[in-house]
Amino acid sequence: MNAPQRPHPPSVEQLLNADGMPSLQERYGRTLLRTVVRDYLAELGDAYQRSELRPQMLTTQALASEVAARLARAHTPNVRRMFNLTGTVLHTNLGRALLPEEAIQAMTLAARYPTNLEFDLNSGQRGDRDSLVEQLICELTGAEAATVVNNNAAAVLLALSAIGAGKEAVISRGELIEIGGSFRIPDIMAQAGVILHEVGTTNRTHPRDYQAAINQNTGLILRVHPSNYVIQGFTASVATKHLAAIAHDNGLPLLEDLGSGSLIDLSQWDLPREPLVQESLADGADIVTFSGDKLLGGPQAGIIVGRRDLIDRIKAHPLKRALRVDKLILAALEAVLRLYQDPDRLAERLTSLRILTRPAIDIEAQAQHIAPLIAQQLGSGWQVDVCAALGMIGSGAQPIARLPSAALCIRPHGARKQRNRALTALMAALRALPIAVVGRLDDDALWLDLRQLDDENLFIAQLSELQVSNT
Ligand SMILES: *Cc1c(COP(=O)(O)O)cnc(C)c1O
Repeated sequence: MNAPQRPHPPSVEQLLNADGMPSLQERYGRTLLRTVVRDYLAELGDAYQRSELRPQMLTTQALASEVAARLARAHTPNVRRMFNLTGTVLHTNLGRALLPEEAIQAMTLAARYPTNLEFDLNSGQRGDRDSLVEQLICELTGAEAATVVNNNAAAVLLALSAIGAGKEAVISRGELIEIGGSFRIPDIMAQAGVILHEVGTTNRTHPRDYQAAINQNTGLILRVHPSNYVIQGFTASVATKHLAAIAHDNGLPLLEDLGSGSLIDLSQWDLPREPLVQESLADGADIVTFSGDKLLGGPQAGIIVGRRDLIDRIKAHPLKRALRVDKLILAALEAVLRLYQDPDRLAERLTSLRILTRPAIDIEAQAQHIAPLIAQQLGSGWQVDVCAALGMIGSGAQPIARLPSAALCIRPHGARKQRNRALTALMAALRALPIAVVGRLDDDALWLDLRQLDDENLFIAQLSELQVSNT
């Protein structure tokens, strides 16, 4: 006796000629359609071998709709917009600073048209790309000269390579930091060919420690702002001004890595104060490096400012060419720096500063409006409250300072195990929304800090797609 006939999947050619396929080919192209059809039929073939195919999977309509869904997925860009409701404003994993409109327009222009990237419009001769921003940077920081590279890690590597290679760099043991990723000061120094000469202790370093370390092989003194951690209690470090005097008495340059750095005193908006670039220079640092996309609020870049002769050496180093920035970044950076020329309106116009200075009372009103909508969507297994929350600047700026804010605090009911499962499912469902939402887990609840919720209507509109049960 024969076994009953099992349904067999169609061939690639059969499926490609089926109803609905021409319109998919029109939309996604022949190559992608063929790849998706072939891969899907291979999966169905495996299922056939395992006797797992059901006839309803093989109707023309079922096949076509699965192929359409796979094409749509394959066609979704990898770079996606998100809602950052973590409470951390300059979130490194979510792209740090959001650019102001002026910078976006400048990038669009530079992307679409030829520009004077390295072309001097006065002389008609070849120009220097740094000249597009150098004067602005100098005007804002009081520096003699400036150059720009890919990020601040590159700025530190390049400055050390150009100024200290083969020589000793004296640095406090309290500043041998790791920023994250694989940026560790001792490793960067080794990579730059600089010999690490550490002085003092983790918590206390004194002027005499630096003085005792200086010898005929010393090339520079390095000061690193310990961005992402703080040492509290019985501590001592040597201020830039004092360290510059020690360096200069010995004919050495002082390099300072400010990390975030800032061009404006944030305490005027009741925000925690980060060291200012212009203060470091005024205190005598010969070279200062800082990030473009941290508190500055611009694109990813590393900005190097300081003495003309040292900047010239940095620009002449072969690594400079390898670490240079592209035209889109320079266009955005110029636009952001121009906003700093009008400090009175900076908090309205610089997106990151606007977010950082958003009053908690505004955020709370928004949370009060949205809380019942989420509660209704999630249903009876959940408790949704508006809670006072504490956010962070992020990117290592002022790691222990907190920004008063308001959050939707979403708490599942039930026994502990069930609550954990429900929270995991809720976070996954929020990430699966058309515009993925990320919050922060704390105290058995999901916190959605609304400081950065720019488009409330869009957020609310997609809530109807949120399906999470807690039963
Ligand atoms: C953030 C930081 C860096 C690295 O800057 P990127 O722009 O992220 O490369 C280096 N040093 C310090 C002190 C920092 O805070």
